Amino acid sequence: MCALLLILVVSLATAAVLRGDLFTSAMPVQANPALAAEKENGLTQLRLTNEANAANKNIDKPNTHAGARLVALTFDDGPNPYITTAILDFLAEHDVVATFYVLGNLVNRHPKIVSRMAEEGHQVGNHTQTHRELPNIGAEARRWEVETARDIISKVIGHEPTTIRPPFGSTTQAVRDEFDVPNILWSVDPWDWYNRCADYVTEHVLSRTQDGCIILLHDVYHHTYEATRRIVPALLEQGFVFVTIDELLALRGEAQPG
Ligand SMILES: [Zn+2]
Repeated sequence: MCALLLILVVSLATAAVLRGDLFTSAMPVQANPALAAEKENGLTQLRLTNEANAANKNIDKPNTHAGARLVALTFDDGPNPYITTAILDFLAEHDVVATFYVLGNLVNRHPKIVSRMAEEGHQVGNHTQTHRELPNIGAEARRWEVETARDIISKVIGHEPTTIRPPFGSTTQAVRDEFDVPNILWSVDPWDWYNRCADYVTEHVLSRTQDGCIILLHDVYHHTYEATRRIVPALLEQGFVFVTIDELLALRGEAQPG
């Protein structure tokens, strides 16, 4: 009798587990602040990016960064109503994220392009208000350049930009120390402002990009848009995973600090 009862209880319990009854209704899911914070951070975004890239390009390991070659595309000096918009359309087609270092005075003119960047998972960085060379102006002017742009960007995207790209890549340790967020430079620079040829820019970038590289482009030139259309599919084909600067810093530490 006892044995039969035991079998009955075990059978019922097994059936309940198979149906998923146990541990679901009995254990209400509590909001977990740590998990919520994790959802907010860039790593979750990176996983989603990887999944999106994998869906497009059949990357073998969609949920892990082990062995993944990472690359960060950065675009300076926008937003530009034509070129930036075309680049955003193209990046969306490929589910690729980038980082846009925008000028505050242009954000004022084209706020919708910048809010679109944030909505589509791109990072928006601070390229100052009017593109002056920071070490060559006084501390007060420097603060105005950085903080005015910071406040304008914050109003549009809902939070302060987490990195600064100093105009012309010009910075010093003293300038870095004046601000709470890091200066970020780059590791691959085709001089697209000088070499106005999509073929040259494409070849320069593809021949030099390695794991962890930060590519500098400017979303104000049509030839840069044309080069982007070639660079992105080629790097995806090579298995690169596109990440934002914050994601790259989170995964690789202070990579290529400026
Ligand atoms: Zn610039």
